[in-house]
Amino acid sequence: KLDLAGKTALVTGGSRGIGAACARLLAERGAAVALTYSKSAEPADSLVNAILNAGGTAFALNVDAGDAKTVKAGVRNAVDQLGGALDILVNNAGLAEHGAIGVLSDQSLDRQIDVNLRGVWHTTAAALDHFRDGGRIINIGSFFSERVPYPGASAYGMTKHAVAGMTRGWARDLASRQITVNCVEPGPIETDANPDEGARAAAIKAAVPLGRYGQPAEVAELVAFLASAAAAYITGAQILIDGGMLA
Ligand code: NDP
Repeated sequence: KLDLAGKTALVTGGSRGIGAACARLLAERGAAVALTYSKSAEPADSLVNAILNAGGTAFALNVDAGDAKTVKAGVRNAVDQLGGALDILVNNAGLAEHGAIGVLSDQSLDRQIDVNLRGVWHTTAAALDHFRDGGRIINIGSFFSERVPYPGASAYGMTKHAVAGMTRGWARDLASRQITVNCVEPGPIETDANPDEGARAAAIKAAVPLGRYGQPAEVAELVAFLASAAAAYITGAQILIDGGMLA
């Protein structure tokens, strides 16, 4: 039931971090995977090569999730290369830039809205033109989809709350097609965006009951489960994977 053979998947922001781990595991379970990146062609290509060497199917595309026009063309291109239809969409591309209200720049606000919020909306709208019934949409939210647990993170928190809102609305919009939509909400996960080093990391770990950062591969396990036939009755859910941080 966890097998994804014959399925096609699009993972946004799949060159590094959580997205890369998702792309790798979906391919390992048998899906043909298109992954996007905005800047890092090299890690994207080396991940694709690793998947191909392991006998999987994958390719990488340069698609800025924050640019609606690029997104439409990019999704169409990805779907064409995947054979014309899509079963799984993982909306992972995202960024966090902190600063209190009155301090955070307008550019930073706009960029987070463009990528984390509009990017998820436009990617999904473009993907739905090609989605097979019974498909899976998995939005990578955050524990910031539930709470804003420290100052200076209202813009990021706003965008991640929006991801949860879109998830719940789309679960209703797409239920008649048996397409499930869920929001995976990671706690601190060790990536380039959130390295496990220094005083900040020590404070984060002190706030996590399990006492450590999560790994991208652990998030990927949840994503791959939600993408599988085993998860057919889960939709509209927000699922924390945070080591107990918000317990
Ligand atoms: P990373 O910064 O490590 O990786 C981000 C990935 O997204 C890269 O592949 C990057 O591509 C890609 N990306 C960034 N902007 C764009 C864009 N405009 N268009 C296309 N791709 C883009 O981040 P994480 O892996 O840590 O985070 C992934 C997701 O998980 C984000 O949505 C984040 O908000 C969420 N998250 C992360 C947590 C954490 O602790 N790490 C906690 C909770 C949520 P490129 O290589 O080209 O830059």
